Amino acid sequence: MNQDPQKPKRGLLFYYVIVIIVMLVMNLFLIPSLSKETTEEVPYSEFLSMLDAHRVLQAKVESTSITFTADIGNSVVAYTTGRMDDPALVNRMVQAGVEFTQTVPTTISPILQLILYWVLPIAGFILVGQLLMRYATRNMGGGSGFMSLGKSNAKVYMESQTGKTFQDVAGEDEAKAALKEIVDFLHNPAKYKEIGAKMPKGALLVGPPGTGKTLLAKAVAGEAKVPFFSISGSEFVEMFVGMGAARVRDLFKQATEKAPCIVFIDEIDAVGKKRDAGMPGGNDEREQTLNQLLSEMDGFDSSKGVVILAATNRPDSLDQALMRPGRFDRRIPVELPDLAGREAILRVHAKDVRASSDINYREVALATSGTSGAELANIINEGALLAVREGRTQVEQKDLEEAIETVIAGYQRKGAVILPEEKRVIAYHEIGHALVAARQTSSAPVHKITIIPRTSGALGYTMQVEEDEHYLMTQEEIVNKITTLTAGRAAEELIFHEITSGASNDIEQATKLARTMITRLGMSENFDMTALESVQNVYLGGDTSLICSEETSAAIDDEVIRLVQTCHDKALSLLTENEPVLHQLSDYLLQRETITGEEFMNILNQYDARLQAAQNDAPAAAAETL
Ligand code: ADP
Ligand code: MG
Ligand code: ZN
Repeated sequence: MNQDPQKPKRGLLFYYVIVIIVMLVMNLFLIPSLSKETTEEVPYSEFLSMLDAHRVLQAKVESTSITFTADIGNSVVAYTTGRMDDPALVNRMVQAGVEFTQTVPTTISPILQLILYWVLPIAGFILVGQLLMRYATRNMGGGSGFMSLGKSNAKVYMESQTGKTFQDVAGEDEAKAALKEIVDFLHNPAKYKEIGAKMPKGALLVGPPGTGKTLLAKAVAGEAKVPFFSISGSEFVEMFVGMGAARVRDLFKQATEKAPCIVFIDEIDAVGKKRDAGMPGGNDEREQTLNQLLSEMDGFDSSKGVVILAATNRPDSLDQALMRPGRFDRRIPVELPDLAGREAILRVHAKDVRASSDINYREVALATSGTSGAELANIINEGALLAVREGRTQVEQKDLEEAIETVIAGYQRKGAVILPEEKRVIAYHEIGHALVAARQTSSAPVHKITIIPRTSGALGYTMQVEEDEHYLMTQEEIVNKITTLTAGRAAEELIFHEITSGASNDIEQATKLARTMITRLGMSENFDMTALESVQNVYLGGDTSLICSEETSAAIDDEVIRLVQTCHDKALSLLTENEPVLHQLSDYLLQRETITGEEFMNILNQYDARLQAAQNDAPAAAAETL
């Protein structure tokens, strides 16, 4: 939940403060000894000697102590002393001419004591609590007293001002344009009513997690300067039957009272799943909630100025009935940001930290292709943390570069001890990737190679960064990518004649790419342009399921294996051709642990130049001189 749980928390805090005050007051009255002024304590013997010296003026004898005033030369001082069982005391005081009294020991009956110390305070607390709750409930529009609190108010968060505007949302221009109309409508519903135009009742924001859907909804409310009611879909689905539906009813009732306003249902898929999708009988509660939501949406008059926004990252799982005209008939895609969008998001968040003025945001944006707004915000924050850790007062380019890696691959595990022999294998593996990438045309340039292990479990990696944002990938590029992925293992085979588990992630990615080519991109030898897999959850990982016969499925497997094998062979032969520079680069990486794409290309270019020169001089001896 991103919503502000301020309201209920504040109520609770108030309650505790009141309880503490009540306790203090009661203690003050019930235990008067607390308020007794401080007096100097003296031993009983001293009391007696002062008594005999006729210094004591007044005395108050209590059940366990004696408080008295004494004249010590030029002033009168109050003292206390413990009372002893001393039958002769009264006589002595009479003789000394002391004015004395004795307090009556408390004779409150045990029952009265019980009532005073226990029943009254507890009753007091309950009373105060009830009053507070009733007050809170009335304030939030429920009005029906104590019991309705549990029913719905506790989790409907109402913000009169979200404090967000479209300026806080970078990129996402299409989504913003689509939402501007809603803002205009909320500003001036009458204008629309006059002409007879009906505003859509609801708009559904769909897109991958972290792209700013929640942020956009808040920005709409902020721009329109209207109250913002928000609730998360999962909160509708409650433990108690009927609660969800009651909550929906209540939410709409409150919203109509506060119109114009925005009602935002986050993660609506939790309630809005297709009704027949689940187990029979198991989803009664959710269905009831959904039905209530549908009927409320039909029932209310949108010209009053209540706009319902909802967000989801699983649009394909939503019940069709939700998308019908008159309900969420607007669907606003909130996609992962493109290059310009990423740059803009980085700039927005960089405003929150003290960033050096010579940061090249475009470069950072280029290196973060495929990341969401939330991740970009995180990169800026990690960068700032890094700058603090190193005792600098400004975030610099290198902090952001390190932060990218932290966000993508986890923190550096500086303390990890890796055996030298393993380190060598890892270095060759990574250089294998980089070298094959560099030796193929149309593959992204190498940006960085490192063999510092990361908390994600990666022992090293090769970062490739495109020079420009691409929207299309050619078949050749995809094949090259698979080849690059197989090259790490190929280098291990070539140099160590032994293979390790280090390639598991490469293998997974290569297989996925090869499969996608064949089953979804129509880039296969045998299947032409047929779709053999369908994608579920486009925005969440994109799981696929086969839609073909078993024979076809077996044939697909064959083709995937052949494709990967071809790529693997190609990588192996490329590395064999370049074995001398593979050694040279791997040694260099072993010494440095992290090298930049530039260093890498320098070594490679020098090697090429030497090779060229040698070939020109004595073509036959070229191989030996190197
Ligand atoms: P979603 O609801 O789509 O999962 P959120 O709206 O909760 O994503 O976004 C999480 C955080 O990521 C936001 O609070 C914001 O800091 C950042 N963020 C995401 N997208 C953007 C964007 N387009 N512009 C600026 N910040 C963004
Ligand atoms: Mg969200
Ligand atoms: Zn690898």
